[in-house]
Amino acid sequence: MNSLTLTVLGSGTCAPTKERSCAAYHLQIGSASVLMDVGFGTMRRLTESSVDYRQIDTVLISHLHPDHVSDLVPLIMALTYTPGFKREKPLHLLGPQGFKSFLFAMQSHYGKWLLDHKNFKKIITELEPDVSQSFDEWQVQPHAMDHTELSLGYRISAFDKVIAYTGDTAFSAKVLDLLDHADLALIECSFPDHHVIGKHLSPTLAGQIADKAQCRRVLLTHFYPVMEPEQAARICRTQFNGPVESAFDLMSVEI
Ligand SMILES: [Zn+2]
Ligand SMILES: [Zn+2]
Repeated sequence: MNSLTLTVLGSGTCAPTKERSCAAYHLQIGSASVLMDVGFGTMRRLTESSVDYRQIDTVLISHLHPDHVSDLVPLIMALTYTPGFKREKPLHLLGPQGFKSFLFAMQSHYGKWLLDHKNFKKIITELEPDVSQSFDEWQVQPHAMDHTELSLGYRISAFDKVIAYTGDTAFSAKVLDLLDHADLALIECSFPDHHVIGKHLSPTLAGQIADKAQCRRVLLTHFYPVMEPEQAARICRTQFNGPVESAFDLMSVEI
C-alpha cells in the first residue's frame, strides 16, 4: 500500500508532562516501519499506539540529546529479549556524526547483546548533511540544523510526498531548504515568542519559516510546558496561510 502515515509518539521535550512524552515519531511508509527519534518514554507510548515495536525496520536520530535518543537501548533490548519473539530482519540505525561512538560507549556498559547479538544485525550509518540514503520504498535526506554542533533535520520522500522534520533547531537558512515545499512540515516550537531559551523555535518563527519555504501543511511539536499549543498554532497562522495544527501524543496524520 502506497501510503505515508505519521503517528506522534512524543510531542514534548526534556521536561515531559503526563500529556506529552519526549520526542518520538513513527512513520509507516508503505510496508516500512520507521521511527524518528526515540526520547525517553517512547517504549511506553509505542505500547499505547497501534504500532508494533517488533516490526520497526529503521530508527533515525536527529541529535544525541536524551529527550531524542534515550529509549534506543530499551528498544533494542525489547527486540532482543521479548519472550516468544525472534527478531530476524536487520535493524537500521541512522544518526549524526558521533552516533557510532555513542552506541559503542553504550555497548561497553550494557554488553555485546546491544550491537552484536546473533539474532539480528544492526546496520549503523552516520549521516552526512545533504547525502541521501535510499531504502526500498523511501529516501531520506539529512540537513544540518542549528542546535547542537551535529544536529540533523530529516527530509523524507516516498510515493511523491515529502515529510520534513526539523528535530531541534534555531532559525537558519538551512531550515528553509529542509522544509522546501514539504507536504507536511513537522516543526519544533519549543518556546513562546520572546522567551526562547537556547537554539529553538517559537510560533512566529515557525510560521515565517513555513511561509518562506512554501510548505503545504504544518504540524507544530516539541512543546515545553510553558508553550500553550493552541496559542502556538494561532500565532503561527498569522505568518502562514496554509493549514497549521499542534501535535499531541498518539495523533495520526495521513500525508
Ligand atoms: Zn529536544
Ligand atoms: Zn535538543
